[in-house]
Amino acid sequence: MTLENHADFIVFGAGPGGYAAAFRAADLGRDVVLVDPRATLGGVCLNEGCIPSKALLHAAEVIREAREMSDWGIKFAKPKVNLDALQAKKERIVGTLTGGLVQLAKKRKVTVVKGTATFNGPDILKIDGEDWSFKDAVIAVGSSSIKLPGWPEDDRIWDSTAALELREIPKNLAIVGGGIIGLEMATVYSALGSEVTIIELGDQIAPGAETDAVRILANALKSQGCKILTDTRVETIKATKASLTLTCTGAFAGKFTADVVIQSVGRSANGNLVGADAAGITVQKNGTIDVDNCCATSQPNIYAVGDVTGGPMLAHRATHQGKVAAEVACGHSAAMDTDLIPSVCYTNPEMAWAGLTTGRAKADGISHKSTAFPWAASGRNLASGGGDGLTKIVYCPETERILGATLIGANAGELLAEMVLAMEMGATLTDIALTVHAHPTLSETTAFAAERALGTLTDM
Ligand code: NAD
Repeated sequence: MTLENHADFIVFGAGPGGYAAAFRAADLGRDVVLVDPRATLGGVCLNEGCIPSKALLHAAEVIREAREMSDWGIKFAKPKVNLDALQAKKERIVGTLTGGLVQLAKKRKVTVVKGTATFNGPDILKIDGEDWSFKDAVIAVGSSSIKLPGWPEDDRIWDSTAALELREIPKNLAIVGGGIIGLEMATVYSALGSEVTIIELGDQIAPGAETDAVRILANALKSQGCKILTDTRVETIKATKASLTLTCTGAFAGKFTADVVIQSVGRSANGNLVGADAAGITVQKNGTIDVDNCCATSQPNIYAVGDVTGGPMLAHRATHQGKVAAEVACGHSAAMDTDLIPSVCYTNPEMAWAGLTTGRAKADGISHKSTAFPWAASGRNLASGGGDGLTKIVYCPETERILGATLIGANAGELLAEMVLAMEMGATLTDIALTVHAHPTLSETTAFAAERALGTLTDM
């Protein structure tokens, strides 16, 4: 059925997964409609996630670096932070990027509709009350912050969006959840002057990441003034006019007070927001929509990409899926056929990993060995004022193929790309060791770690 409002290819949600799908489909000749309730394109990532947090993390890093220069005989005055100006700078960066997306959409003649799309059938949908017919659709509606049940509604309990609004610099800040968001916000607010306590349910912050690297990160956060409570669950929060009282169980069993609490206990998929039932698509209990490796749902003309399809909930995974969905819908042979999704925690130091950790390999009974190069022995790291850091590689003892890598130190997220490519290409330790890395660079640490395993390292 074709209605007056018809979309050849329609995308629900203009985050990194949605706009990638829309732009790729337009490049492949489709007539594309991109729908999003926000006034700007870019979704959570650009508007209130990845990009604004990176802007604040940059400010935090400059504050720290300036402070650390006193050790080099260079002293700066104590920084004066103008929160409004910092907020405005962050908004300008976001504005440049979201404005850029508008241009990219225009260039491709993608029609952008501000509104909320929900299905009304397998080839019919509603956008703010108006019926549309469509040929192909991509659901890219993302995820939302999880709110713990029973917690009070209080302006002093922030989710990540509120935390990035820089409403104030709280004196005492409690961060519930020591995952990536919690750790990045700890990095920002401790640099701005808050006394930060991170409370994490797991036995380490960044659960699942390589334990050696996490130890270095935990020590660095402590030296930046953060308290870390692991194996501890926040059970309840009581709000009084003066403060918020957190009651914890586990390794720290007791109460403490904070002026502000950041709630960073994960995100849940938004699959329930699109009227999937009407299209004959099942939404799982946790809000996710199942897809195959072509990003197709159970309906042949409806695809789903990004956080709504489950984890890892990362923008770069969404972007890749978005392109796959568009290509498959346009008749191309494409698939999302990799599990190698890199993770980067933009703390100070930065921590980045992909593939297997030693813990995961052990738990899954995978034959493996590991090798590491400590950054205390890296000339470039020391000469750039870097502290403790590590490059660790997990490899297959039989084939020497690289199975996983974790780096912690300056620019770890950038350096990880070499390791991801190595894994995608099936490279071995010898391939890495025989690749000439420039000296002095931090990238040498991957070659040094490989050489260490091969017994050819002369830098330690
Ligand atoms: P997360 O799942 O990474 O971490 C949440 C943490 O909260 C977990 O470690 C969990 O053990 C802990 N937790 C849960 N309940 C608790 C309780 N009652 N008391 C104490 N601890 C508790 O989630 P997040 O940090 O909120 O991030 C959400 C998503 O966004 C993740 O998928 C993350 O990867 C993604 N993200 C990525 C980046 C990046 O790539 N740099 C940045 C921000 C967010």
